[in-house]
Amino acid sequence: MANKINKIQSIRGMHDILPEQSPLWQFFEATVQKLLQSYSYKEIRMPIVESTDLFCRSIGEVTDIVEKEMYTFEDRNGDSLTLRPEGTASCVRSGIQHGLFHNQQQRLWYMGPMFRHERPQKGRYRQFHQIGVETYGMPDADIDAELILMSARLWKLLGLKNIRLELNTLGTAESRKAYKLVLVDYLNEHKSVLDEDSLRRLETNPLRVLDSKNPDMQLMIEAAPALMDYLDEESLMHFNHLTAILDKAGITYNINHRLVRGLDYYCKTVFEWVTDALGAQGTVCAGGRYDGLVEQLGGRDTPAAGFAMGVERLLSLLEDAGMQVDNTPHIYILLQGEQAQLQGMSFVESLRDQMPDIDIQTNCGAGSFKSQIKKADKSGARVALILGEEEILNDSVGIKMLREKVDQKTVSQSELVTLLKTIL
Ligand code: ATP
Ligand code: MG
Repeated sequence: MANKINKIQSIRGMHDILPEQSPLWQFFEATVQKLLQSYSYKEIRMPIVESTDLFCRSIGEVTDIVEKEMYTFEDRNGDSLTLRPEGTASCVRSGIQHGLFHNQQQRLWYMGPMFRHERPQKGRYRQFHQIGVETYGMPDADIDAELILMSARLWKLLGLKNIRLELNTLGTAESRKAYKLVLVDYLNEHKSVLDEDSLRRLETNPLRVLDSKNPDMQLMIEAAPALMDYLDEESLMHFNHLTAILDKAGITYNINHRLVRGLDYYCKTVFEWVTDALGAQGTVCAGGRYDGLVEQLGGRDTPAAGFAMGVERLLSLLEDAGMQVDNTPHIYILLQGEQAQLQGMSFVESLRDQMPDIDIQTNCGAGSFKSQIKKADKSGARVALILGEEEILNDSVGIKMLREKVDQKTVSQSELVTLLKTIL
């Protein structure tokens, strides 16, 4: 009878990470974790679901994310919940809730899936992964610089070249107010070029118009007055301090007046690490300062700065660079015959006791010698160990090198570990 049930597929834009892909993920995650540890950042893990309110009040009502990208639903109690589209809001919520910001400095990081209902394409998914880094209680540009230096070090560790730094400052909320008036005048003069989204934003959040990717508006945006020219003393000093540290450290950057970022909570420093190698989805890491957010979400006034990297985009750069991570076992063990199957497992356990760093795959499910050696070969292991009736009787074990032309030999089980240590 034909199976009439439709096969269930994963949700569009949400992907499985298959066994052949996970070694690269693990390598990447381990590299980042080690780096973060070396800068004394501590991991925080937040829930994936939060109150919808949290994101509306932090990211901003008039942003792409809140207007059209959130996975929002009512739970069985009728509460409005949202799958987190980013981590900063949750991190701030958690810090306020647990008193992490009271007279303390914090260097935090997290990683995990984020959810946005976007049009799926290369480098843009509905479930994607970020590693986020957030700092609290440090108002000066030195910590902004540390965030940038740390990310620059990561690209170097990963061997990624051609990632450039785009830098801008949004100034303080006060200096932005003065600029907004000028910008609104300018946008009103060019109303005929504005698309529907931008016309709406002209009323609600004019800065956001500069963020538009509509090609027909680029010339107009290019010629718009620059926020940099309206900065107050404090914002200018902060920015100059940051660029001075970066200059001294040999970090090159491009000051990009159009860089306003897609979220409302930023102030002063904003930055993006961008590559040309990924087409339109070229931003691999983005962040900045958000001094007002903690207070905005009900905490005490706390300076803050951070960034988030898009893991899929960085992995795609690593793949394009030909990076391969080997996770094949070192040893494959063949068990031939009833006695070998009975005693073999304990033999392997004692091997594991003596060589905890060696990866061993045991043949399960018996099979002929030929079929077992075929599986051994397919496993990618370098060494096959053979336990058959004869070996069990003699307390010996057969060794066959799977990748080299060497004759198979038999050694006593007591000599085995010493021998394996010279081979592996
Ligand atoms: P974009 O302009 O590409 O939409 P964004 O400004 O919305 O990015 P952020 O919210 O700053 O992105 O998120 C930080 C990083 O997370 C981005 O620079 C990108 O690398 C990654 N990212 C964001 N959205 C997606 C997505 N839908 N799929 C994959 N990665 C994403
Ligand atoms: Mg986006």
